[in-house]
Amino acid sequence: EALLDVEAVRRDFPILQSSVCGKPLVYLDNAASAQKPQSVIDRLDRYYKEQNANIHRGVHFLSQEATVAYEDARKVVARFINAAEPKECIFTRNATEAVNLVASSWGRANLKAGDEIIISTMEHHANIVPWQMLRDELGVVIKVVPISDTGEFLVEDYKALFTAKTKLAALCQVSNSLGTINPAKVMVEIAHQQGVPVLLDGAQAIAHLPIDVQDLDCDFYVFSGHKLFGPTGIGVLYGKADLLSAMPPYQGGGDMIDRVTFEKTTYRGIPERFEAGTPHISGAIGLATAIEYVEQLGHEAMIAHEQSLLKEATDKLLEIPGLRIYGTAGDKVSVISFTMDGIHPNDAGTILDADGIAVRTGHHCTMPLWQRFGLEGSIRASFAFYNTREEIDLLVTGLGKVQKLLG
Ligand code: PMP
Repeated sequence: EALLDVEAVRRDFPILQSSVCGKPLVYLDNAASAQKPQSVIDRLDRYYKEQNANIHRGVHFLSQEATVAYEDARKVVARFINAAEPKECIFTRNATEAVNLVASSWGRANLKAGDEIIISTMEHHANIVPWQMLRDELGVVIKVVPISDTGEFLVEDYKALFTAKTKLAALCQVSNSLGTINPAKVMVEIAHQQGVPVLLDGAQAIAHLPIDVQDLDCDFYVFSGHKLFGPTGIGVLYGKADLLSAMPPYQGGGDMIDRVTFEKTTYRGIPERFEAGTPHISGAIGLATAIEYVEQLGHEAMIAHEQSLLKEATDKLLEIPGLRIYGTAGDKVSVISFTMDGIHPNDAGTILDADGIAVRTGHHCTMPLWQRFGLEGSIRASFAFYNTREEIDLLVTGLGKVQKLLG
């Protein structure tokens, strides 16, 4: 923890100085969306004050300035995830749109009735529903990798799901509900041995782990900017250049075309082909600033602090009678999902909120995962590098109050 000056880091995030219900905000809902440092807020402000114009189309000064900033942002994203080339990084609205892009474009071009897609029990709805829509449209078959009672991805069962008809594995790298870190590299290797490409959902991994898409060797990687301390409304689809280049467009419109006549239109290469219309220019630029913030902080310091918070919070929560934690005790990010005997998660969340403590309650967009545990959902506390030990104590005190009132 000596690596990170938490009090200094907290001063970078204006919202962390605010109060809720007259109490200092204790923000423990980082897995849903993370807070933004002043540098990101300032960058958005500067963009609209000094650089705002549409990109790629103008000869005038501002348009060129905005274009350079937008394309520089793509380079920052590529560097952050170690993509071989910036053009392999497509800007989308969020992780959800990135999955939908792959399902619509790659899916329709490459799949037919009877083909199989492998997902896992712990997927977010964003990595389930687009494939179900494709199933309903094309007649593809979805196969689901089971998980253990402690929420681990079962690698041997995964291996056994592959057949000659398997065409894609779409799997999360980190579970948003349990925090489990999956063996992504092994999962990719196994699929590749069968000649099957892999989409990794990195929405929960991106803010907690260093990501190297070339080392992972995944074919697609998706994430959202807002969980990485960047703006909402901006996300990324990484894809290997040859795969993306062979895919048909997702949406049609301006910017993605080469030449248009009423008879025939030809399309541009990547990344433009997949960025129809005016993109979220300020969002991409703000995301790059968020990435630079994380890079400056360093993954080592961030991970060390988050893991020490995770350990302390786990130990303290387990001392509360009737509290049960779901998910592995092994490799996980700083997410703790739990239930309390006889207490509805929403009621607990409401009582905590009155003390300024923000946690998530419910199914966290992973209904099938909770069905696996015979539950409707959980209470989820998720920590970022700017959270503190004092906040863990406030959570524990708050849960004591919950028990007194409802238990
Ligand atoms: N996948 C995972 C694992 C997630 O945690 C989330 C967000 N909760 C998503 C996908 C979807 O992200 P977004 O809503 O930003 O598109």
